[in-house]
This record gives sequence, C-alpha cells and structure tokens, in this order.
Amino acid sequence: MVDGKPQRNTRQRTVVLEELKKVSCHPTAAELYEFARARMPKISLGTVYRNLELLAQNGVIQKLQISGAEDRFDGNPERHYHVRCVRCGRVDDVHGVPGDLVRADFRTLSGYDIIGHRLEFDGICPACKGTLTNAGHPPREGRRA
Ligand SMILES: [Zn+2]
Ligand SMILES: [Zn+2]
Repeated sequence: MVDGKPQRNTRQRTVVLEELKKVSCHPTAAELYEFARARMPKISLGTVYRNLELLAQNGVIQKLQISGAEDRFDGNPERHYHVRCVRCGRVDDVHGVPGDLVRADFRTLSGYDIIGHRLEFDGICPACKGTLTNAGHPPREGRRA
C-alpha cells in the first residue's frame, strides 16, 4: 500500500469525476477505468471503484443498481429515470417523468414515509431495433404476395 498522499488521491478523484461527467453512457466502473487510464496511466481499477463509491455516497454522482446487471455510474446527480436495452445493455436517460407525483401517491397508498424509489424500464434501443429488423425480416423488394 502506497496510498499516503492526499493530494494524489484528490487528483485521482477529480479525474474519475471529470471522465464520468464527460460521457452520457452510464459506464460501469471497468469502463470508466479505461477512460481514466487514458489520462492517468497509473490509476488502478480499485482506486476507480473506491472513488466512485465515495462520490456516490456523497451525492455527487449516482450509482445505478440495475437488477441482473453490473452497477453503472451517472455523472448527473439529479433524479431522473433510466431505460436499459435488454439486448446490448446500454442505459439511457429519460427526462420529464413526474417522479414526485409517483412518490406522493405511493406514500398515501402505503402509509410509509418514502425516502426513495427505483423504477426500471427495459426496452430495445433504437440501434438494436435496427439490427433486429434487418436480421429478422430482410427487406425484399417486390417479393410481397
Ligand atoms: Zn441496444
Ligand atoms: Zn442518467
């Protein structure tokens, strides 16, 4: 263990955060490690994990825990919904969902004080929809009965 320099730790955290904020693809820790390594060749996967966990705990970023998939990270700490492609695993943002309404209604229905909620949408992304159409139904002109 040679992690004795707070300055270096701060710099690593800054790089991890900056790289996460740059992308909108909701990367896994391993993916983010690849981005961070391009700027900081000596950074380790463990360091990236640690910093991501810390930033998520402090509410600077979000950790997306999607059932049956690896944790992903989001540089946007504001509450918004995500949709995951069941074919390629990509995760996209969905804005404009009235989440606070859901929460208020659920509180009334359940009698619980609701401190958070998670809603998962699964789907097939536009890119995958394209390949599906091409593979499943090859377009044949003039062959329709
Ligand atoms: Zn897809
Ligand atoms: Zn997001």
